[in-house]
Amino acid sequence: MIQFNVFPGGKKRIVTFSYDDGSENDKRLISLFNKYSLKSTFHLNGKKYAGLDADALAGIGKLYSGHEIACHTLSHGWCANMPDISVLSETLGDRIILEKIAGYPVCGMSYPSGSFSEASINVMKSCGIVYSRTTVSNKNFALPENFMLWHPTCHHREAEQLIDAFMENLDSEWKRPLFYIWGHSHELRTEQDWEKMEHICAALAGNNKIWYAANIEIYRYMTACRQLIISADENIIVNPTSTDIWVEKDKKDIIFIPAGKTVTLD
Ligand SMILES: [Zn+2]
Repeated sequence: MIQFNVFPGGKKRIVTFSYDDGSENDKRLISLFNKYSLKSTFHLNGKKYAGLDADALAGIGKLYSGHEIACHTLSHGWCANMPDISVLSETLGDRIILEKIAGYPVCGMSYPSGSFSEASINVMKSCGIVYSRTTVSNKNFALPENFMLWHPTCHHREAEQLIDAFMENLDSEWKRPLFYIWGHSHELRTEQDWEKMEHICAALAGNNKIWYAANIEIYRYMTACRQLIISADENIIVNPTSTDIWVEKDKKDIIFIPAGKTVTLD
Protein backbone atom coordinates (compact mmCIF):
# COMPACT_ATOMS: atom_id res chain seq x y z
CA MET A 1 0.00 0.00 0.00
CA ILE A 2 1.27 3.40 -1.00
CA GLN A 3 0.15 6.60 0.69
CA PHE A 4 0.67 10.24 -0.21
CA ASN A 5 1.38 11.36 3.34
CA VAL A 6 5.05 12.28 2.97
CA PHE A 7 6.30 15.62 1.76
CA PRO A 8 9.61 16.94 0.36
CA GLY A 9 12.58 15.50 2.22
CA GLY A 10 10.41 12.74 3.72
CA LYS A 11 8.73 15.18 6.13
CA LYS A 12 5.27 14.40 7.47
CA ARG A 13 3.96 17.85 8.33
CA ILE A 14 3.44 21.13 6.47
CA VAL A 15 3.08 24.71 7.69
CA THR A 16 1.82 27.48 5.42
CA PHE A 17 0.51 31.03 5.80
CA SER A 18 -1.84 33.05 3.61
CA TYR A 19 -2.41 36.81 3.87
CA ASP A 20 -4.91 38.91 1.94
CA ASP A 21 -5.27 42.47 0.64
CA GLY A 22 -1.63 43.61 0.51
CA SER A 23 -1.56 46.32 3.17
CA GLU A 24 1.45 48.35 4.33
CA ASN A 25 1.77 45.96 7.29
CA ASP A 26 2.86 43.21 4.89
CA LYS A 27 6.38 44.67 5.12
CA ARG A 28 6.64 43.99 8.84
CA LEU A 29 4.93 40.62 8.51
CA ILE A 30 7.36 39.55 5.76
CA SER A 31 10.30 40.55 8.01
CA LEU A 32 8.81 38.35 10.70
CA PHE A 33 8.32 35.39 8.33
CA ASN A 34 11.86 35.85 6.97
CA LYS A 35 13.33 35.98 10.47
CA TYR A 36 11.82 32.53 11.15
CA SER A 37 12.31 31.12 7.60
CA LEU A 38 8.55 30.67 7.21
CA LYS A 39 6.80 30.87 3.86
CA SER A 40 3.57 32.65 3.07
CA THR A 41 1.31 33.37 0.14
CA PHE A 42 0.15 36.97 -0.30
CA HIS A 43 -3.14 37.46 -2.12
CA LEU A 44 -3.15 40.86 -3.79
CA ASN A 45 -5.64 43.11 -5.59
CA GLY A 46 -4.02 44.27 -8.82
CA LYS A 47 -5.96 47.54 -9.04
CA LYS A 48 -3.75 48.98 -6.27
CA TYR A 49 -0.73 48.66 -8.54
CA ALA A 50 -2.28 49.64 -11.89
CA GLY A 51 -0.43 52.58 -13.45
CA LEU A 52 2.79 52.07 -11.46
CA ASP A 53 5.99 52.23 -13.51
CA ALA A 54 8.35 49.29 -13.98
CA ASP A 55 10.64 50.36 -11.12
CA ALA A 56 7.77 50.61 -8.65
CA LEU A 57 6.45 47.20 -9.72
CA ALA A 58 9.93 45.70 -9.33
CA GLY A 59 10.12 47.14 -5.80
CA ILE A 60 6.87 45.40 -4.87
CA GLY A 61 8.13 42.17 -6.41
CA LYS A 62 11.27 42.45 -4.30
CA LEU A 63 9.24 42.94 -1.12
CA TYR A 64 7.34 39.68 -1.71
CA SER A 65 10.25 37.65 -3.11
CA GLY A 66 10.76 34.32 -1.38
CA HIS A 67 7.00 34.16 -0.79
CA GLU A 68 4.17 33.56 -3.26
CA ILE A 69 2.15 36.31 -4.91
CA ALA A 70 -1.38 35.14 -5.70
CA CYS A 71 -4.69 36.62 -6.90
CA HIS A 72 -7.43 38.16 -4.81
CA THR A 73 -9.24 39.69 -7.84
CA LEU A 74 -8.47 43.08 -9.36
CA SER A 75 -10.72 45.18 -7.12
CA HIS A 76 -11.97 42.95 -4.28
CA GLY A 77 -15.57 42.37 -5.36
CA TRP A 78 -17.79 39.55 -4.17
CA CYS A 79 -17.47 36.85 -6.79
CA ALA A 80 -20.75 35.11 -5.85
CA ASN A 81 -22.59 38.31 -6.80
CA MET A 82 -20.92 38.86 -10.17
CA PRO A 83 -21.82 37.88 -13.72
CA ASP A 84 -19.27 35.58 -15.35
CA ILE A 85 -17.88 38.43 -17.46
CA SER A 86 -16.92 40.37 -14.31
CA VAL A 87 -15.35 37.32 -12.64
CA LEU A 88 -13.38 36.89 -15.86
CA SER A 89 -12.12 40.49 -16.05
CA GLU A 90 -11.42 40.59 -12.29
CA THR A 91 -9.39 37.38 -12.40
CA LEU A 92 -7.50 37.85 -15.65
CA GLY A 93 -6.91 41.54 -14.93
CA ASP A 94 -5.47 40.65 -11.53
CA ARG A 95 -3.22 37.99 -13.02
CA ILE A 96 -1.87 40.33 -15.69
CA ILE A 97 -0.81 43.03 -13.20
CA LEU A 98 0.47 40.61 -10.55
CA GLU A 99 2.55 38.70 -13.10
CA LYS A 100 4.32 41.96 -14.00
CA ILE A 101 5.22 42.24 -10.30
CA ALA A 102 6.02 38.57 -9.67
CA GLY A 103 7.76 37.63 -12.93
CA TYR A 104 6.12 34.17 -12.90
CA PRO A 105 2.65 32.79 -13.75
CA VAL A 106 0.31 33.65 -10.87
CA CYS A 107 -2.09 30.72 -10.51
CA GLY A 108 -3.27 30.91 -6.88
CA MET A 109 -6.31 32.72 -5.49
CA SER A 110 -8.17 33.48 -2.31
CA TYR A 111 -11.83 34.50 -2.54
CA PRO A 112 -12.33 38.17 -1.56
CA SER A 113 -14.51 38.24 1.58
CA GLY A 114 -14.76 34.45 1.17
CA SER A 115 -17.31 34.97 -1.61
CA PHE A 116 -17.58 32.42 -4.42
CA SER A 117 -20.12 30.36 -6.36
CA GLU A 118 -19.88 27.28 -8.54
CA ALA A 119 -20.15 29.49 -11.62
CA SER A 120 -17.36 31.82 -10.46
CA ILE A 121 -15.10 28.85 -9.68
CA ASN A 122 -15.57 27.58 -13.23
CA VAL A 123 -14.64 30.97 -14.68
CA MET A 124 -11.55 31.26 -12.44
CA LYS A 125 -10.40 27.79 -13.47
CA SER A 126 -10.69 28.76 -17.13
CA CYS A 127 -8.52 31.82 -16.28
CA GLY A 128 -5.77 29.45 -15.10
CA ILE A 129 -6.45 29.53 -11.36
CA VAL A 130 -5.56 26.14 -9.84
CA TYR A 131 -6.38 26.62 -6.16
CA SER A 132 -8.36 29.06 -4.07
CA ARG A 133 -8.59 29.56 -0.32
CA THR A 134 -11.87 30.12 1.47
CA THR A 135 -12.39 31.84 4.84
CA VAL A 136 -13.89 28.69 6.41
CA SER A 137 -11.59 27.45 9.18
CA ASN A 138 -11.56 23.63 9.29
CA LYS A 139 -9.63 23.54 12.62
CA ASN A 140 -8.44 20.04 11.78
CA PHE A 141 -5.21 20.34 9.73
CA ALA A 142 -6.73 18.69 6.64
CA LEU A 143 -5.30 18.89 3.14
CA PRO A 144 -8.06 19.80 0.68
CA GLU A 145 -9.69 17.21 -1.55
CA ASN A 146 -10.66 20.00 -3.92
CA PHE A 147 -8.04 22.72 -4.14
CA MET A 148 -10.64 25.24 -5.38
CA LEU A 149 -12.29 24.84 -1.95
CA TRP A 150 -9.17 25.05 0.17
CA HIS A 151 -10.34 25.61 3.76
CA PRO A 152 -7.57 26.93 6.04
CA THR A 153 -6.94 25.49 9.51
CA CYS A 154 -7.70 28.81 11.20
CA HIS A 155 -7.32 32.56 11.28
CA HIS A 156 -4.13 33.69 13.09
CA ARG A 157 -6.15 34.87 16.07
CA GLU A 158 -7.16 31.23 16.71
CA ALA A 159 -3.76 29.69 15.94
CA GLU A 160 -2.06 29.71 19.33
CA GLN A 161 -4.49 27.26 20.89
CA LEU A 162 -3.91 24.71 18.09
CA ILE A 163 -0.09 24.72 18.07
CA ASP A 164 0.42 22.05 20.75
CA ALA A 165 -1.94 19.60 19.03
CA PHE A 166 -0.11 20.10 15.74
CA MET A 167 3.43 19.81 17.14
CA GLU A 168 2.73 16.54 18.95
CA ASN A 169 4.36 13.39 17.51
CA LEU A 170 5.67 14.96 14.32
CA ASP A 171 6.96 11.58 13.06
CA SER A 172 3.64 9.84 13.37
CA GLU A 173 1.32 9.07 10.52
CA TRP A 174 -1.45 11.55 10.32
CA LYS A 175 -4.07 11.95 7.69
CA ARG A 176 -4.33 15.65 8.56
CA PRO A 177 -0.80 17.00 8.23
CA LEU A 178 -1.23 20.69 7.33
CA PHE A 179 -1.31 23.73 9.60
CA TYR A 180 -2.68 26.51 7.38
CA ILE A 181 -2.97 29.95 9.00
CA TRP A 182 -4.62 32.88 7.23
CA GLY A 183 -5.39 36.50 7.99
CA HIS A 184 -4.77 40.11 6.99
CA SER A 185 -1.64 41.94 8.12
CA HIS A 186 -3.80 45.07 8.69
CA GLU A 187 -5.43 43.16 11.57
CA LEU A 188 -2.09 43.32 13.39
CA ARG A 189 -2.68 46.74 14.91
CA THR A 190 -1.04 46.85 18.33
CA GLU A 191 2.38 45.75 19.56
CA GLN A 192 0.56 43.06 21.50
CA ASP A 193 -0.91 41.71 18.24
CA TRP A 194 2.61 41.58 16.77
CA GLU A 195 3.97 39.83 19.85
CA LYS A 196 1.25 37.19 19.52
CA MET A 197 2.07 36.74 15.84
CA GLU A 198 5.77 36.39 16.62
CA HIS A 199 4.96 33.80 19.26
CA ILE A 200 3.04 31.75 16.67
CA CYS A 201 5.93 32.00 14.19
CA ALA A 202 8.55 31.07 16.78
CA ALA A 203 6.53 28.08 17.99
CA LEU A 204 6.15 26.62 14.49
CA ALA A 205 9.53 27.55 12.99
CA GLY A 206 12.88 25.80 12.69
CA ASN A 207 11.71 22.20 12.88
CA ASN A 208 13.38 19.83 10.41
CA LYS A 209 10.33 17.57 10.48
CA ILE A 210 8.11 20.29 8.96
CA TRP A 211 7.97 21.44 5.35
CA TYR A 212 7.53 25.21 5.26
CA ALA A 213 5.85 25.95 1.95
CA ALA A 214 3.85 28.56 0.07
CA ASN A 215 0.33 27.53 -0.97
CA ILE A 216 1.25 26.88 -4.62
CA GLU A 217 4.13 24.56 -3.66
CA ILE A 218 1.69 22.38 -1.71
CA TYR A 219 -0.76 22.34 -4.61
CA ARG A 220 2.01 21.43 -7.11
CA TYR A 221 3.51 18.72 -4.89
CA MET A 222 0.17 17.02 -4.18
CA THR A 223 -0.80 17.25 -7.85
CA ALA A 224 2.53 15.68 -8.86
CA CYS A 225 1.93 12.78 -6.41
CA ARG A 226 -1.31 11.98 -8.23
CA GLN A 227 0.62 11.67 -11.49
CA LEU A 228 2.85 8.80 -10.34
CA ILE A 229 2.43 5.67 -12.43
CA ILE A 230 2.45 2.58 -10.20
CA SER A 231 2.57 -1.11 -11.15
CA ALA A 232 -0.17 -3.44 -9.96
CA ASP A 233 2.12 -5.03 -7.35
CA GLU A 234 3.13 -1.49 -6.25
CA ASN A 235 6.85 -2.26 -6.69
CA ILE A 236 7.54 -0.15 -9.78
CA ILE A 237 6.91 3.56 -9.40
CA VAL A 238 7.38 5.94 -12.32
CA ASN A 239 7.63 9.66 -11.67
CA PRO A 240 6.88 11.38 -15.00
CA THR A 241 6.86 14.86 -13.41
CA SER A 242 9.59 17.45 -12.85
CA THR A 243 9.00 17.27 -9.07
CA ASP A 244 10.93 15.04 -6.64
CA ILE A 245 8.35 12.95 -4.76
CA TRP A 246 8.36 10.96 -1.53
CA VAL A 247 5.69 8.38 -0.67
CA GLU A 248 5.17 5.96 2.17
CA LYS A 249 4.93 2.22 1.53
CA ASP A 250 3.24 -0.28 3.85
CA LYS A 251 3.10 2.30 6.66
CA LYS A 252 6.84 2.01 7.28
CA ASP A 253 9.18 2.75 4.37
CA ILE A 254 9.62 6.19 2.90
CA ILE A 255 10.37 5.90 -0.81
CA PHE A 256 12.05 8.69 -2.77
CA ILE A 257 11.17 8.88 -6.46
CA PRO A 258 13.31 11.54 -8.14
CA ALA A 259 11.79 13.70 -10.86
CA GLY A 260 11.62 11.89 -14.19
CA LYS A 261 12.90 8.58 -12.74
CA THR A 262 11.58 5.07 -12.16
CA VAL A 263 12.13 3.30 -8.85
CA THR A 264 11.92 -0.50 -8.64
CA LEU A 265 11.54 -1.92 -5.14
CA ASP A 266 12.81 -5.38 -4.15
ZN1 LIG B 1 -9.63 40.50 1.03
